[in-house]
Amino acid sequence: MSSERNMSQDKNMSIEGKIKRKSIYKQYEPSNKPEKRDESAAYWFIFNHKKILINLKSNDKIPFFRNPEELNLSPVRIQYMGMLKGKSCYSADVEPGTVAPKGMIFKELRSLYDDLDEDIFLLAGKAIQIVNWDKNHQFCGRCGSPTETSKYEMAKICPKCGFRSFARLSPAVITAIIKDGKILMAKHGYRGDMYGLIAGFIEPGETVEEAVGRETLEEVGLKVKNIKYFASQPWPFPNSLMLAFTAEYDSGEIKVDGKEITGAEWFSADEIPRSPSRMSIASELIDWFIENYPTD
Ligand SMILES: [Zn+2]
Repeated sequence: MSSERNMSQDKNMSIEGKIKRKSIYKQYEPSNKPEKRDESAAYWFIFNHKKILINLKSNDKIPFFRNPEELNLSPVRIQYMGMLKGKSCYSADVEPGTVAPKGMIFKELRSLYDDLDEDIFLLAGKAIQIVNWDKNHQFCGRCGSPTETSKYEMAKICPKCGFRSFARLSPAVITAIIKDGKILMAKHGYRGDMYGLIAGFIEPGETVEEAVGRETLEEVGLKVKNIKYFASQPWPFPNSLMLAFTAEYDSGEIKVDGKEITGAEWFSADEIPRSPSRMSIASELIDWFIENYPTD
């Protein structure tokens, strides 16, 4: 195998070093246990259901202050999230109907996709998942007793029956499928005229590669080969983890159901329709395609 030969030639490069993608965060250090109770100002990711508290006057847009009482807010629950730009970060949720402090508003996180700094958007996505998990696992799903938060891991433990519940993730696959230097893009019924890549949730009992093959067959009637892992990205709407792949066309003719998928076509690098938003892993896959399959 050529990759093994290269590896032994370069003894300084570990396997991990070769395959590890750099952190998606630029200025964030994760942690769920504060070293000590920090009394200095911190970033507060505060949610009122699906809406996040935005400070209209700050560049970061995330409220930065010592504690919620300073803003007359009374969070129901608070979670520590780590450090952003050397400052502590907390997530919290407030009672429905809470009015935003002066100069701030509660805004739907999804609508802020292109307005927030990348680290801030990713952290807000992490925060809303932690807040919802904490809120929805106050009681044991097995025996109904109140749960306790683990000191060692992101888990809720039932003191009565010992049942543990972890924050739930729903992994999904998204694939760039290539044929004769073109990429396959499909129109999903719910997204109107917007073209996207083939994607779907992984089902119990299948590998990620099998999910890629099944979704492609179900959505566009094609078989694929040479399925290769590309990268991953957390996706907080509502609790997904996107696993991106590249694959080559193997066989079949494009066939769509006209409902879930309303159309699918092969596009060359200079024909690609509206590209997805800059932060999505779909746009990274499309950038990879354009770089590797340039139009002559
Ligand atoms: Zn229990």
